[in-house]
Amino acid sequence: MSKVRTRFAPSPTGFMHLGGLRTALYAYLYAKANGGDFILRIEDTDKERFVEGAIEVIYSSLKESGMDYDEGPDKGGNYGPYIQSERMDIYKKYALELIEKGGAYYCFCSKERLESLTDENGNRKYDKHCLKLSKEEVEKRIASGESYVIRQNIPEVGSSSYEDLIYGTITIDHSELEDNILIKSDGMPTYNFANVIDDHLMGITHVIRGTEYLSSTPKYNLMYDAFGWERPVYIHLPTIMKDATRKLSKRYGDANFDDFVSKGYLPQAIINYVALLGWSPKENIEKMTMEDMIRLFSLDGISKSPSIFDEVKLKWLNGEYIKALSDEEYFKVAEPFLQKSSVYGKYDSTLMLSLLKTRIETLGEIPEKLEFLNEFTDYNTALFCHKKMKTDEALSLQVLPLVLNAISNCEWTHDGLHDSLIGLATEKGYKNGQVLYPTRIALTGKESTPGGAIEMCLLLGKEESIRRINHSISLLKAKLGE
Ligand code: GLU
Repeated sequence: MSKVRTRFAPSPTGFMHLGGLRTALYAYLYAKANGGDFILRIEDTDKERFVEGAIEVIYSSLKESGMDYDEGPDKGGNYGPYIQSERMDIYKKYALELIEKGGAYYCFCSKERLESLTDENGNRKYDKHCLKLSKEEVEKRIASGESYVIRQNIPEVGSSSYEDLIYGTITIDHSELEDNILIKSDGMPTYNFANVIDDHLMGITHVIRGTEYLSSTPKYNLMYDAFGWERPVYIHLPTIMKDATRKLSKRYGDANFDDFVSKGYLPQAIINYVALLGWSPKENIEKMTMEDMIRLFSLDGISKSPSIFDEVKLKWLNGEYIKALSDEEYFKVAEPFLQKSSVYGKYDSTLMLSLLKTRIETLGEIPEKLEFLNEFTDYNTALFCHKKMKTDEALSLQVLPLVLNAISNCEWTHDGLHDSLIGLATEKGYKNGQVLYPTRIALTGKESTPGGAIEMCLLLGKEESIRRINHSISLLKAKLGE
C-alpha cells in the first residue's frame, strides 16, 4: 500500500477558524497515526478574498498548535509549489487535457444570457449551450479574443456514488449537478477544479475536509474518472455548532483561534479541546498531548452528527493545562496578561502570579483577579458574616484589633504570620477561621481572593496591610454604631 498522504488546504482569509483547525488536526493525526505525511497547501485563487498577512496566520496557528507539516510553502517538498497561485500553468495544462478527453468545454455565454436562464424560483442551471459549438467555432472565437470560461461536462443522465469513511455511501443524480466553471475568465481555476488537480498531483491518498464538500465530491470524482486517475479516499467531518441552530462563526467572534489565544487560552488546550469536537478516543480520556492523540486517533471514534462547542468545558480544560505548566513556562505565558493589570509593577509579580496559577481558567482572568490590590474603598461589612466560619461583624470587630497588634510585631514571612495569627486564635480561644476569615476580608473587602489571609498580607506588605485593617475597623465601627 502506498504511504498515507493527507493535506490541509486553507484559503488565506486572515484568520484560523476553529473548524479549520480541527480539519487540519484530524488530517495531521490520521497521517501520523498511519506513518504518513501531512501537507499544507494554500488555496489562494480567489483574488477578491486576498488578505495581506493571511498566509502567515496559517503558518503560525499550525506551529503554535504543534502541527508540524512535512511539506508546505515554507517547508518545500517534492510536490510543490504548495501555493495555488503559483500553479497556474499546471491548471491550464490539465484543463486543456480535460477538454480533449470530453470532461470539460469552453463556454462563451454572456452574463445576460446566463441571467436569462433563471427560472421563476430564482434558480439557474446552465443549459450546456456552448457544448454544442464546433471545434472550429471555438478556436475562431478564442482567436478573436472573446472572453470565455471552461466548464465541467457533467453527464445528463445517471448518477455517481462513492464511499465516505464517515458518512457511508453517497449517491448523487447527475441531474442535480451543474456544469460548474473550472477555469474563470481571468484564467484562475475555481476550487472545483484546483482541488482535484492538486490532490492528484500531490499524491493525496485521503482527502479530509468539512461536510460542506460531501455532496460536491461526486463532481470531483467524475473528473478523476475522466482523467483516468485513481480517486482518493474521502473523510468528511461534521460541522461544529455554537448551539442547536447556529454554526460556530467568525461573524460572532466565537470561531477564531487567535481570539482564544488572546483571551488567555493556551494553544495546547485549544487543540486538545478541538480534537474532542467530533471525536471520542476509545480510552475515554480528555486531556491528551499530541503524542497521545496520535496514538489514540482512529476514524471509528468520529461522529456523524454535528458537535457543539462548549466554552465552559474548554475553560475547564485550559485551567488544567495552566496548572500543569512548569512555573517557568507559566510565568512566561502569564506575564503579558499581568502587564495589562493596573497593579503591574506595584506588587511582587512572582507572588501575584503564583497565587493565581491554580485559581484561574484563562490567563485573561489575571488582571480582574488582581483588581482588589489596586483599590480599597468602602465595602459592605455584611461580608464579615459567615456562618460556617462562625463569624459576624461584631466578632470581627473584636478580633481585628488583636490581629493588628499581633501582626505589627511579627516577622513578615509566611511562617511568622502563620504563627502569630494561629497563636492569637489559640491564646484567645477562637477557632482559626474566626481569626483568618475576618483578616482576609479586612485586607481585601472581597468575598473571593486569590489566597488566604497570610498570602494577602504577604502580597500587600506590612504597611498596606495595617492601613487596610485599620480602615476596615472603622467601617465596622461605623456600621455597629460604636
Ligand atoms: N480551501 C478550501 C476551504 O478552505 C479547502 C477545502 C478542502 O479541504 O478541500 O474550505
